[in-house]
Amino acid sequence: MYQQLADRVGVFGGGVNVGIIQAADNHAILVDTGANESNARKLLRHVREEVGLNVIAILTTHAHADHFGGHEFVARRTGAEVYASPIEATILKNPELQPSLLFGGAAPPAALKERFILARPSPVHCVIDAGVVHFANVAVEVVPLPGHSPNQVGYLIDGVFFCGDVVFPSAAIEKFRIPYLFDLDRHLASMELAARTPASWIVPGHGTVERDITSLLEHNLAVVHETRETILKRLEEPAPLETIACGVFDAMDVPMESHVSYYLLRSTIAAYLASLEARGAVEHLMLNRQACWKRRQVEIGRIS
Ligand SMILES: [Zn+2]
Repeated sequence: MYQQLADRVGVFGGGVNVGIIQAADNHAILVDTGANESNARKLLRHVREEVGLNVIAILTTHAHADHFGGHEFVARRTGAEVYASPIEATILKNPELQPSLLFGGAAPPAALKERFILARPSPVHCVIDAGVVHFANVAVEVVPLPGHSPNQVGYLIDGVFFCGDVVFPSAAIEKFRIPYLFDLDRHLASMELAARTPASWIVPGHGTVERDITSLLEHNLAVVHETRETILKRLEEPAPLETIACGVFDAMDVPMESHVSYYLLRSTIAAYLASLEARGAVEHLMLNRQACWKRRQVEIGRIS
């Protein structure tokens, strides 16, 4: 469950990889806290009883419930200060914004209020965006990695790079087919930045810790291209988002197990369409009182 990666840095595995950074005076800084109070309880027991450290800060990669669901518990039990980037900080404090974003900006229905998508509100003490955060003898570099979420950041410390959900493990891609994202072009730029960030260990939000994520990034990129081409093939005639999304889910055999999966991926397809529009590959028109999307006559090969 726990893996030491550098003298002062380790990772506590589980559904989400939580970073544990050791600072002076037996202090600990966490990167994310896992999905909920039960995970956070195990994490805190490990940090306090097995490693003997007191948590003084929590660094947030992004405001998805599986990464910050334990924040409130850890902050309340330890008095730790919570750090997050500006947009993610707003969602930490107002977590109902996340299901509302997925539901087109409206108050969300019951199916989008389950724990996987809606965490307990977390306090935020320090808003960070880029640069270096100092804790006594520890300096943590903040690496902006927007795209998977609006304002995701990674953290680099002693050669260990916590990169959030900028990449997903191959097993997750094979199972779920299309990874969720908020902004395709910023996500692609963040994947490139992650590939260029020098590190001895890379800790994605989920899955195994890696020495090199080149092949993982290639797999993630391949599914982006596959998704984009599958969308474009469905745009010979104008169609609304729902029709396009369902056509893509069928064509790519996406397992659609719940309302949450549906709304996450419908939103993801919308992000692809906005990106294609920005690249001049599709047009967004109003037809019969419906917002529709249609392919422009551009060769797919020209859309890089
Ligand atoms: Zn995420």
